[in-house]
Amino acid sequence: MGTIDNLPPLREVIRTHDLQARKSMGQNFLLDLNLTAKIARQVGDLGACDVLEIGPGPGGLTRGLLAEGARRVLAIEKDARCLPALTEISDAWPGKLQVIEGDALQTDPLAHLTPPIRVASNLPYNVGTELLVRWLTPPEWPPFWQSLTLMFQREVAERIVAQPGSKTYGRLAILAQWRAEARIVMQLPPEAFTPPPKVSSSVVHLNALPAPRYEADAAVLSRVVAAAFNQRRKMLRAALKGIAPDIEDRLLDAGLKPTDRAEQVPLEGFCALARAVAAK
Ligand code: SAM
Repeated sequence: MGTIDNLPPLREVIRTHDLQARKSMGQNFLLDLNLTAKIARQVGDLGACDVLEIGPGPGGLTRGLLAEGARRVLAIEKDARCLPALTEISDAWPGKLQVIEGDALQTDPLAHLTPPIRVASNLPYNVGTELLVRWLTPPEWPPFWQSLTLMFQREVAERIVAQPGSKTYGRLAILAQWRAEARIVMQLPPEAFTPPPKVSSSVVHLNALPAPRYEADAAVLSRVVAAAFNQRRKMLRAALKGIAPDIEDRLLDAGLKPTDRAEQVPLEGFCALARAVAAK
């Protein structure tokens, strides 16, 4: 770790500020500063960028990011009870931490950040996937972020990095891997959190690619993939009937077998299909 921050241990912070975790806020806190520093080290070159953190809570990961040398951290927290604890951290790191009280789904952080920007967060489970999808589908590419280092339930993390042929392969894998390089960098058991959730968690690190991996129109790709995986057990020619009347020809144009199932089609195949559909 970098500079010692002279702040009290997180269990004491929780006691002092009466921060009992609330399920409705998706609160499962990380109280081990060695662990939060380890997560912070997965983010990349912290000293060269501003970091956006969603849901700092009592500030375990925030302290990890600052101690590991983040140039600046902008934290958005919905639960006002956490603000006094976060003020103590910004006092210990003058000029380095800005906290916005608000709902991350309703707050535009960009006015408060200077590029390059990385996102690091132990996400609230109830909004995690929605935020990820928003970050992966901005109107313009490349996006505002260089990388995302995010904690998810293990099952969601596996869907993000899934490969063709696996049961977890679907829309999330295609969305993430089309525009980013995604990998699981840490696994955490329930006991790492207070209170422990029912399931294990994983940290996923996504690096934005400068351009999508294969050419395709984002809206067409999204439509094709949604239809294909909505009926994932059906053959593509049946699942994609609503996409185009001559879908069998489009599938053949894309080099795919109409009798294949969505689960077997690699990302490159879906992009070829999106191009073949858009060409008509
Ligand atoms: N980062 C802290 C840690 O690792 O100990 C807390 C993580 S906890 C899983 C999720 C945090 O997100 C909580 O502090 C919760 O209050 C906050 N939160 C929940 N919904 C939110 C939202 N819509 N916008 C911003 N923060 C939210």
